[in-house]
Amino acid sequence: MAPLAPDSAGRLDKLRRFMKRQDLQGIVIGAAVNVRYLTGFTGDSTFALLGTDEALLVSDGRYSEQLAQECPDWPCEIRPPSLPLIEAVARALQHLGWRRLGFESHRLTVAEWLHLQDRLPEATWCPLASAVEDIRVVKDAYEIAYIREAVQTAEKAFQEWLGQVESTATEKELADHLETALRRHGAQSSSFPIIVASGTHSALPHARPRPVPVADADWLLVDWGAVCHGYHSDLTRILIARTISAKLEEVRAWVREALERGLQAARPGARASDVDSAVRRTLAEAGYDRFFCHGTGHGLGLEIHEAPFLRPGHDTLLQPGMVFTIEPGVYIPGWGGVRLEEDILVTTEGCQVLSQLDWRLKARG
Ligand code: ZN
Ligand code: ZN
Repeated sequence: MAPLAPDSAGRLDKLRRFMKRQDLQGIVIGAAVNVRYLTGFTGDSTFALLGTDEALLVSDGRYSEQLAQECPDWPCEIRPPSLPLIEAVARALQHLGWRRLGFESHRLTVAEWLHLQDRLPEATWCPLASAVEDIRVVKDAYEIAYIREAVQTAEKAFQEWLGQVESTATEKELADHLETALRRHGAQSSSFPIIVASGTHSALPHARPRPVPVADADWLLVDWGAVCHGYHSDLTRILIARTISAKLEEVRAWVREALERGLQAARPGARASDVDSAVRRTLAEAGYDRFFCHGTGHGLGLEIHEAPFLRPGHDTLLQPGMVFTIEPGVYIPGWGGVRLEEDILVTTEGCQVLSQLDWRLKARG
């Protein structure tokens, strides 16, 4: 899968053009996910220092070998165990001599930033809330191939698991079985702690599976995803346990309709908030909008939740290559919750749903 290579040079080029516009001599990247995106290094505890022509990774001895394998083109400074990472970064920056520096204000700790300011009193520090994230928001072909693989892996594991659902099992056991199935089908791991929620417990959008048998429940809410090569998928389905009640059928139909209208709104040039309002308006027609207590969706990629965020007030313009979820839900306290979630890719025409899995599913057993 994904025979293409990541466009590493293109990514660095975009960041350097940004630095030029902001008149930055250097940029300090400490978030592991952003270091990975820029360099290919999959470890942690490592900073990438990027200048307009120079670049340096500051890491430690645990990673010497891995750095040589994963990013052979990047010069590395390996700090001794006695030297704290942030002090090694400060010394490297003193040596590089950059004066106007960008840093990840949403990722660096206050203690780290104070330390850097203290050690480089001459430098001007420019907070950057989302420099690398702004580049990551549009996926290249390499990333899209791996996200597709993550979606397909999640689907295959789910279908196998669905054939084995026993009503005597507990929510926790079912979630554990699904996680095992994900790994067996090639996932590195689950994208997040899997949600299997039955009965009124499904009214909690982020329900934690309980050691409670699902036998008496009318339906199960299952939210799961796979990580493949660092890329995430995230799907939610409702499993009908026996005959569907009129109320459940009605709520599910409205949630499905909201999802459909979200899909119609997701196209290049639309704002992220337009998708959210299409979904929210649909649920309002049924009087269910007050039970929809979260955003409509979130970007997917190297992180499970990343830009773009589809919420009221988020006016990011959608572009081809963006990948995100659309996940309307109705959570009625004392009754239960219904959510349907799809992963979608914005195309030049509109959008493409990456999952093939039916939304009208029945549990066996
Ligand atoms: Zn989800
Ligand atoms: Zn989600």
